[in-house]
Amino acid sequence: MRTDIAIIGAGPAGLLLSHLLAAEGIESIVVESRAREYVAARIRAGILEDSSVRLLRSVGLGGGIDARGFEHRGIYLQWPWERHHIDFVSLAGRSVWVYGQTQLQADLVAAGEAAGRQVIYEASGTALHDLDSDHPSVTFTDAAGLPQRIEAAAVAGCDGKFGPSRAAMPDEGRETWERDYPYSWLGILADVAPSTDELIYAWHPDGFALHSMRSATVSRLYLQVPSGTDIADWPDDRIWDALATRLGHGQDGWQLTPGPIAEKSVLPFRSFVQSPMRHGRLFLAGDSAHTVPPTGAKGLNLAIADVALLAPALARLVRDKDSALADAYSATALRRVWRSEYFSWWMTSMLHISGDPFDAQLQLAQLRWVTASTAGAAGLAENYAGLPIGF
Ligand SMILES: Cc1cc2nc3c(=O)[nH]c(=O)nc-3n(C[C@H](O)[C@H](O)[C@H](O)COP(=O)(O)OP(=O)(O)OC[C@H]3O[C@@H](n4cnc5c(N)ncnc54)[C@H](O)[C@@H]3O)c2cc1C
Repeated sequence: MRTDIAIIGAGPAGLLLSHLLAAEGIESIVVESRAREYVAARIRAGILEDSSVRLLRSVGLGGGIDARGFEHRGIYLQWPWERHHIDFVSLAGRSVWVYGQTQLQADLVAAGEAAGRQVIYEASGTALHDLDSDHPSVTFTDAAGLPQRIEAAAVAGCDGKFGPSRAAMPDEGRETWERDYPYSWLGILADVAPSTDELIYAWHPDGFALHSMRSATVSRLYLQVPSGTDIADWPDDRIWDALATRLGHGQDGWQLTPGPIAEKSVLPFRSFVQSPMRHGRLFLAGDSAHTVPPTGAKGLNLAIADVALLAPALARLVRDKDSALADAYSATALRRVWRSEYFSWWMTSMLHISGDPFDAQLQLAQLRWVTASTAGAAGLAENYAGLPIGF
């Protein structure tokens, strides 16, 4: 097969890149290792920044957000017996939207199918070749067991943290940075109306808790748990009891309503950045180049911001034989990546219990300042609601 851009990975980065390239008149083929149904069902992120929503609307992908998303002015920050609202709109002039990654993925699949764009699911043995040349290729075995090759002008590695693209970057000149955390999130999806109008981020001596949501009838909640936690040790009653304690059920009349748990899993925390995000004709975007702990709701938004920069860069490279934007891509994307890495680390460090009583007092001092000072609250609001693409 021959196309302009071979894209590896049909997650949000890969499918949105394909959509943005098509808007520039550039063809692509997406290769995905998983089945279409598996990719569609993954429960992951749920918050879209202001700049993500603007971009999606600008390319005809805002219909689902407008019909089924929920615009939030801000979040609640709390610790025992204190709950404060941080109003992003008045502090930073921007809001965020609750819209599940699953819903966005469905919108991207529908748009690609309507336009006849090619996505090859259930590919195995994906490998990248000739990245130093201007005619790289991707090989794989298709679902029928047949060997396939896609020749392209460039390859976009949108295959997440375990895909082959990250590993295809040569060691020479490559730098990586990472931080592991001694805790994870136990996340549940519950068929019950949210007990809050906007997200609650709760500091608690037992560990952090987050009350998020996906719709008017589906709640998404998280508990800080130690790394290596076995989900079998957390029957549903234990999860709801811990959530009630940490989120402050009964405090000032607030009540947490439990409901049937539809899905539960443990999500390990890690910060990771690989630089550069480009080698020859291979360009990394999204989780293939970086991961963040989910506290700042940045993973999905960073994937969107990366491909928003990458699509015009690849279009200029292929259509106009002009490499200026492609040459600048890695440095431009990494500015925002590191800003988001910082914010995600900062939110995580402020809200998660380390077991050290001194840390706990520092966290409470920081929370009191962020919620009492306009400058402190505005910093959180500006970063959470998101910086402009290309920041
Ligand atoms: C369990 C989980 C929960 C999360 N929860 C949150 C959250 O609450 N908040 C938040 O902000 N972020 C969250 N994230 C992060 C967010 O979902 C990611 O940042 C986002 O999915 C990144 O999009 P992406 O397209 O770069 O990567 P991905 O969505 O990972 O997509 C990569 C794609 O590449 C495919 N692939 C992998 N290997 C190959 C191969 N060899 N050949 C072809 N295709 C391949 C994968 O199957 C996948 O479809 C979560 C992530 C996970 C894993």
